[in-house]
Amino acid sequence: MMGHHFTIAVFEGDGIGPEITAPTIEILTKLAGTNRDYDLTFVNAPAGAAHYARTGESLPAESLRIAGEADAILLSAMGLPDVRYPDGTEISPQIELRKHFGLYAGVRPVRVPVGGVTPLKMAKDQWIDFVLIRESTEGLFFTQGTGEVSHDEARETLRITRAVSEKLFAFAFKMAADRKAYGRGPGRVTCVDKANVFRAFAFFRGIFNEVSAQNPDIKADSAYVDATALWLVQKPWDFDVLVTENMFGDILSDLGAGLMGGLGLAPSADIGDEYAVFQPCHGSAPDIAGQGKANPFAMFLSAAMMLDWLAMKHNVPAMCKDADLLRLTVEAQVAAGTTLTPDLGGTATTQEAFQAVADILCAGRK
Ligand code: ATP
Repeated sequence: MMGHHFTIAVFEGDGIGPEITAPTIEILTKLAGTNRDYDLTFVNAPAGAAHYARTGESLPAESLRIAGEADAILLSAMGLPDVRYPDGTEISPQIELRKHFGLYAGVRPVRVPVGGVTPLKMAKDQWIDFVLIRESTEGLFFTQGTGEVSHDEARETLRITRAVSEKLFAFAFKMAADRKAYGRGPGRVTCVDKANVFRAFAFFRGIFNEVSAQNPDIKADSAYVDATALWLVQKPWDFDVLVTENMFGDILSDLGAGLMGGLGLAPSADIGDEYAVFQPCHGSAPDIAGQGKANPFAMFLSAAMMLDWLAMKHNVPAMCKDADLLRLTVEAQVAAGTTLTPDLGGTATTQEAFQAVADILCAGRK
């Protein structure tokens, strides 16, 4: 049988970006190289703050074309605090990619396996496994970069549309159904909003209820964002799929990363109808760039999400298995507590953390 061939656009980005991208591509190449069912080709797409400083362009048309023609987009982190547009805002081509490709569903899985790393006190047999879905094209980010600012007043617009909300909620209900089928959750979606104060959020919740009525097999409930922040610390194991507006999701996803022991372990995906970008939740971490101590695990886990997405879209079960293998290997490595980078309390370099995962993957293949 001829295997499936996929082209991956790679934005290696700024700061620690290139340092965590290289080992991620090596891991993916190793997995695909020992599998007859699929293979991967990587195409570099230059963009970001350093590229802007060199060329005056942050997201060249050629890179956008490469991304548009690829089967999936893998991105590390972009932006540097010292490189800014003339109006003072940071270079964030990842946000432009979300808008350009209509990537409305920001998927942020939060997983702490039994015995995993978390600042919470958990019972020995307790685990955390929920997914936060952050709307990623509108909400309070709608006027990002174009808000009105005068000497006396500043205004930004929160925009919520029926079209995007319907797709967002349909995506959330499908994810809950898939997780239930996979034995990963009870099949429940929680809409997180502030419907008691803002009409826009009552509108958001109203659409959620409409989509919920079309999905009678999945439980649905709603919660206010402030209470949700409290519950995510007190009882995160109670949640399955949460879906929320852009800004609320931005904040809660960092809370989720905190539950997992830090940004170095938090993967994400921005998914639309056709395209998807996979990238770690963290930024370019310029404070540790070039020192060989960046944690590559969040990017490995994002790459596993990419394999899963491609596998589901093109029906390639072997890629799903590889995604599981990669995810479980990283989780086992974290639980073992050896060969961890300094952000997780270890002394390993990026290269050593990568090598430990690569060795286990190779052994798992024999
Ligand atoms: P952004 O606004 O782009 O998300 P940020 O300035 O909020 O970026 P990060 O760049 O994510 O934040 O860095 C926050 C802190 O976490 C820094 O101290 C950084 O060194 C640390 N950090 C982030 N990612 C990693 C990683 N992969 N490995 C180790 N430390 C990391």
